[in-house]
Amino acid sequence: MNILDFYKEYPDELSCKLKFKSIRDKEGIVCKKCNCKKHYWKKDKWSYECKQCKYRTSLRSGTVMQSSKLPFQYWFIAMHLLTATKKSFSAKEMQRQLNHKRYEPIWLMMHKIRSVMGLRDNEYQLTDSIELDEGFFETVNKKLSKDEINKRGRGSQKQTTVLVMIQSKENKGNKNKNRPDKKVGYLKMKVIHNLKSETINQKIETGVEPDTDVVTDNYSSYKKISQTINHTAYKVDKTNVNKVLPWVHKAISNAKRLLLDVHHRIDDDFLENYLNEFCYKFNRRYFQDKTMERLIVAGVNHRWNEL
Ligand SMILES: [Zn+2]
Repeated sequence: MNILDFYKEYPDELSCKLKFKSIRDKEGIVCKKCNCKKHYWKKDKWSYECKQCKYRTSLRSGTVMQSSKLPFQYWFIAMHLLTATKKSFSAKEMQRQLNHKRYEPIWLMMHKIRSVMGLRDNEYQLTDSIELDEGFFETVNKKLSKDEINKRGRGSQKQTTVLVMIQSKENKGNKNKNRPDKKVGYLKMKVIHNLKSETINQKIETGVEPDTDVVTDNYSSYKKISQTINHTAYKVDKTNVNKVLPWVHKAISNAKRLLLDVHHRIDDDFLENYLNEFCYKFNRRYFQDKTMERLIVAGVNHRWNEL
């Protein structure tokens, strides 16, 4: 969807509200009080009323927009700009584009959208065969006091570890020598706080289907990797990296470059949200026009993870 199509479809606040309502109607509303699924639409209140107990659910309640006071159109513009562009938008840039006075609500809106992207992708597990490796992303710890920062000498900068899993399988008949010998599928990136095998296994068990073939390097953390998958470890060096782990390294360097370009200093608490956006877009790179609509559906069905 380009910007002209967007403005044709969503020229004002009302068109955005109606679109959001039509998707909620399709997805279904469940009463918080009595679990009833049948509702009247109270047009004057922009709310659903439970047929059984009369409890009212506002159009935003239970969705990504819950408790937000920003116009629906802001949310739609943000979802459009985040999905229609290859790169990303900083909250500062979004604030400028929306001409909004305060930074904080725009920043929060964008993180809620990214959080929902992550929740949506968490519903899928990787399967077939995957490459797995860790990447170290430069972040800052904004919770440190000035004294603590001075004591550390290196300021508040730190490296945050990210476990990266990407589906890839043999690309038979590949004649292009510049392309890796593997075809790429879906991607997951998860922040981890250490490289212990329990931590890695927990991510594998939630993110990867049992019996999946998993390829790693022979780093010691991967020695006691989960029993639920078929693990092969290789000694990886410059000569075979393009054969064994081509895509996981590509994904890590692309994500690092993009994040540095757009966001500069990333708070380690929010790194996973930025990665959610990166993965969500990567995983839908062939969706084209449908990406925005699918994101609205995700926003209707998911609230955000507590920020
Ligand atoms: Zn009810």
